[in-house]
Amino acid sequence: MNLDPLLLDVLACPCPRHAPVSEQDGAVVCSLCQAQFPIRDGIPVMLIDQATPGPSGVVGVADNS
Ligand SMILES: [Zn+2]
Repeated sequence: MNLDPLLLDVLACPCPRHAPVSEQDGAVVCSLCQAQFPIRDGIPVMLIDQATPGPSGVVGVADNS
């Protein structure tokens, strides 16, 4: 399944940097934290609690510094 490139363009990861995302292997993947978001019925689910965290840790942790 391919997402509309225009849709990918406006999507952003919920992580603190709101990094751009791309589609990889049927999921939406953040270019920064590598979190993966599922695509259901062609709609990316950009929710932190639905995401698979990337190797660098938990998605969307607030930067309190
Ligand atoms: Zn991210």
